Amino acid sequence: MKTYDIVIIGGGPAGLAAGLYAGRAKMDTLIIEKQKFGGQIVITDEIENYPGSVEGETGPSLMARMVAQADKFGCERVEDTITAVELEGDVKIIKGNKGEYHAKAVIITGGEVHKNIGCPGEKEFTGKGVSYCATCDAAFFEDFEVYVVGGGDAAVEEAMYLTRFARKVTLIHRRDELRAARSIQEKAFANPKMEFMWNTTIEEIRGDGVVESMVVKDTQTGETREIFADEEDGTFGIFVFIGYTPSSEIYEGIIDMERGYILTDEEMRTNIPGVFAAGDIRKKTLKQVVTAVADGAIAAVQASEYLEELAGTAYKGGART
Ligand code: NAP
Repeated sequence: MKTYDIVIIGGGPAGLAAGLYAGRAKMDTLIIEKQKFGGQIVITDEIENYPGSVEGETGPSLMARMVAQADKFGCERVEDTITAVELEGDVKIIKGNKGEYHAKAVIITGGEVHKNIGCPGEKEFTGKGVSYCATCDAAFFEDFEVYVVGGGDAAVEEAMYLTRFARKVTLIHRRDELRAARSIQEKAFANPKMEFMWNTTIEEIRGDGVVESMVVKDTQTGETREIFADEEDGTFGIFVFIGYTPSSEIYEGIIDMERGYILTDEEMRTNIPGVFAAGDIRKKTLKQVVTAVADGAIAAVQASEYLEELAGTAYKGGART
């Protein structure tokens, strides 16, 4: 079986940047992605805080260029879901549903997955009124009413995007103050199609085939009430943006973590030699595309140096450009 120099687990911004740097350093590199290359950011409609992004930049447009750039430098890419890893030793073994992969160094960039509300009906009505992706599903709610759950940057930005389609967008937040950045909040408060339902949580989602009503609870009084779809519409949308959890279960007990986030040093090294982590899966404060790609670049350079050290050809001149 072929042993790659570097296998990157995860094809979001961190993984693609690591692939670009590793490929450009002439490392034999494979990127494994479970769903869709591009990661979480492909469900974002507007990217205005990635340096150099062009006017009208979207998640898909930025990520398509990142994929093309990794390809240009010779990275192999495969879609597979990794289910187990053996990371001790000089050859790392990565087991997926489709096959097994061997590597001298591994960069873990699995990112995070969206959180669910966890209420009855949520699962049943996913794709039938409940969504976790405004870019994917907004068009289904042209001229309908839409509710967005959450109070962070994602909820508020996606709610504003949804106002381009929906008749009215109501943001449901469990507190009476948003977590989102002030600049984002200001735009939302100024948007005439946005309404806010404070101190509220969704307790149950009901319907017959599609979402028809939901039971909400006042977090201050504990009172519940049912909100029904407008009679003519018959349904409404519920978009959930309440944060993310790291995709790190398979590394539990293997790599040092804190609350599921992989611990690294500044050079993206984990506690296991030859194993690096980059992007949102590692413990860090600022989770942005710009920090993910920076992590990826650092991890790839460090992985290359680790390989050179393994081969006894360490380059001592510092990081390459
Ligand atoms: P987040 O910042 O963690 O916010 C999650 C929101 O959901 C919070 O308002 C939280 O309420 C609420 N929430 C959490 N669990 C809940 C539950 N079980 N039921 C109801 N509400 C719940 O997550 P995010 O908005 O997805 O953002 C994640 C990261 O990406 C952040 O670092 C953010 O800055 C970044 N991001 C940046 C941009 C941008 O720069 N343009 C855009 C999107 C995301 P509480 O406030 O009460 O905790």
